[in-house]
Amino acid sequence: MSKQAKQRILSGMRPTGKLHLGHLHGVLENWKRLQDKYECFFLVADWHALTTSYERPQEIPSNKDEMVLDWLAAGIDPDRATLFVQSEVKEHAELHLMLSMITPVSWLERNPTYKEQQQHLKEKELATFGFLGYPVLQAADILLYKGHKVPVGVDQLPHIELAREITRRFNYLYKDIFSVPEALLAEVPKLPGLDGRKMSKSYGNSIFLSDPPDVVRKKISAMITDVERPRMGDPGDPENRCIAFKLHRLYLPAEQLEVIVSECKAAKRGCAACKKELAEAIIRKMDPIWQRRKALAADPGKVKAILADGANRARKVAQSTMAQVWSALWNRNAK
Ligand code: SF4
Repeated sequence: MSKQAKQRILSGMRPTGKLHLGHLHGVLENWKRLQDKYECFFLVADWHALTTSYERPQEIPSNKDEMVLDWLAAGIDPDRATLFVQSEVKEHAELHLMLSMITPVSWLERNPTYKEQQQHLKEKELATFGFLGYPVLQAADILLYKGHKVPVGVDQLPHIELAREITRRFNYLYKDIFSVPEALLAEVPKLPGLDGRKMSKSYGNSIFLSDPPDVVRKKISAMITDVERPRMGDPGDPENRCIAFKLHRLYLPAEQLEVIVSECKAAKRGCAACKKELAEAIIRKMDPIWQRRKALAADPGKVKAILADGANRARKVAQSTMAQVWSALWNRNAK
């Protein structure tokens, strides 16, 4: 299939800091698969980060660099996907402004994550125009590249639905220039953090892609296992009660898992040794990622060049879309 014939994917991440294993298995591995099948645009959503981090914007540039290093180290390939920074393509702001003219406030207020996030991030003042309107910016991100599909988890479906409604409204009011984007539901493995809650930087329970082997060993040795098994002499239940075993499943082969389950159930396996096996398996899997990250970090000019090239490619597409958008508006009677 030629590149032009491929459907387009738009996806992005807010540069809120270093990425962890949850991002690797939940997003980046999916992106790696998608870049073979679709024409992918992956954006560093730095303007989106401003919606919640407007009081600490100075952290965004370094977070952005760390995140792109993680993307590249994990195997996101700038020859197969366009990697760029949102704020380098000003057309995102232009289309956001245009779409905000046609988006009813009531659509944004009924967005379930709007109120949830305000509750969740109580320490931040989020009753802002920018935070309310961020789904409009998301819609602009997708439509600028005429994205056919948007990879998302179930919790983000309301945002895609909103983007679809905004698209239909534009097409109805002016001209049918956009295909209505579809959600591409990703199978996201639920990755527990060291304390059993979802792995998240804000919970301080993460293993980062940039953690060196000794840090991985130390973190895994402190990970919660089966709380109903205080002593080695107690039989365990890896599949139903052990938090660490959820990571074993991801990193160890089936035969080794069988041995772990039977030995643990028979109280013949200690958690400390079991977690050591896990840490070494993670380190083996992470080693190529670390090697690539180290090489890339030693050559900051390369990452800059990749992002500059990506922004040029993205800008060309975005400018062409905006020409069609304004033509559709100013020539509305011709519809
Ligand atoms: S021995 Fe392994 S599987 Fe069993 S509870 Fe401990 S860490 Fe979990």
